[in-house]
Amino acid sequence: MSRPSVPIVTIRSAMAMAPVPAAMPPGVAAQALAARLARGIPDRPTLLHILATQAADEIEVVRQAAERTLLEHCGDTVRLRGLIELSNRCTADCHYCGIRRSNRALVRYTLGIDEIVSTARWCGEVGYGSVVLQSGERRDARFVRFIADAVRAIREQTRSPVLPQGVGITLCVGEQSAETYAAWFAAGAHRYLLRMETSSPRLFAALHPAKQRYAMRLDCLKTLKAIGYRVGTGVMIGFPGQSLDDLADDLLFFRDVGADMIGMGPYIAHAQAPLAGPLPDPATRMQLALRMIAATRLLLPGINIAATTALQTLAPDGREQGLRFGANVIMPQATPPHVRRQYALYNGKPGVDDTVTQCAAGLEGRIHAVGRRLLRNAWGDSLPR
Ligand code: SAM
Repeated sequence: MSRPSVPIVTIRSAMAMAPVPAAMPPGVAAQALAARLARGIPDRPTLLHILATQAADEIEVVRQAAERTLLEHCGDTVRLRGLIELSNRCTADCHYCGIRRSNRALVRYTLGIDEIVSTARWCGEVGYGSVVLQSGERRDARFVRFIADAVRAIREQTRSPVLPQGVGITLCVGEQSAETYAAWFAAGAHRYLLRMETSSPRLFAALHPAKQRYAMRLDCLKTLKAIGYRVGTGVMIGFPGQSLDDLADDLLFFRDVGADMIGMGPYIAHAQAPLAGPLPDPATRMQLALRMIAATRLLLPGINIAATTALQTLAPDGREQGLRFGANVIMPQATPPHVRRQYALYNGKPGVDDTVTQCAAGLEGRIHAVGRRLLRNAWGDSLPR
């Protein structure tokens, strides 16, 4: 029997509501939901309810439960990864992405090793503790060597009395061979972020050209785990054709694939990317992304969850809202400003003209304002699962 599927686009704007004021007592249904969440890890119907409810008091119950779970399992610290977008050259042609190979309107760049390493050193000096090296996808031997060299140099040149092993290094460089993943691990990377984008093979096929295969990406996640990386994955939320059932399946996929960390955010269109179809409005996508964070926290209490840049694109305080719904990682922008505009995955990416110092400024205050502390000078891995 097939399950009823709630298309996200049909619930647009109903979600664009303000959270219920804390002083207002939850109604009967919200109290029942609170009791259900207090009983332990949510089952699929409860996850679906968390995504679907349009009652403000229920949303606040979910938020509070996720925040409580986070504080109990991970503490109140926010872990930082300086984001270095080292190249926008890409051999992939994902239908949703602004740096896809077919986008001829983009000036392509690749940072030199010296600039990557000096940026990572700066991240270490300001206390970020970890960096994410992200780029478009290439598999040629030169690129594979280049990433290995960058990782080794960062590992050697960011050692300090507070970080004797140097900064933690997460790679986010797409699908690669097992040999390549192993070489980069040996060079000193210890986390890898590869979003599945969706756990539905049908939707994956709609998001990608035929030669980019679901099975291949899944194999990559398994290979990364077998090599010993802490593995992150995630999905885009609110793209055309996606339903709430698909999102509930994504949550169970995170559990079943053994993810150590999750990075996910709302889908945001890019003018030169061809993915078409009706979209939920931005407020609905934002609400759903926050619910997905909360549901992930309740399902997988000890993992790291990022409050991503895409959240900040839809709302200036989007990352702080992500923290309030159970996220505990922020990736401050550290890409040198002279190339940042060229790493345009989607329209309206924030802070493209800010200096890295401006991106760092005020972070502490914004995090304190939501009752959390910065974890400085530490890799900030999640608990082993
Ligand atoms: N190519 C590598 C990969 O696929 O893992 C790393 C870079 S890729 C540009 C990083 C992430 O950007 C993707 O996993 C995707 O989820 C996100 N992204 C790309 N286009 C997006 C869009 N239009 N809206 C939201 N997120 C997007």
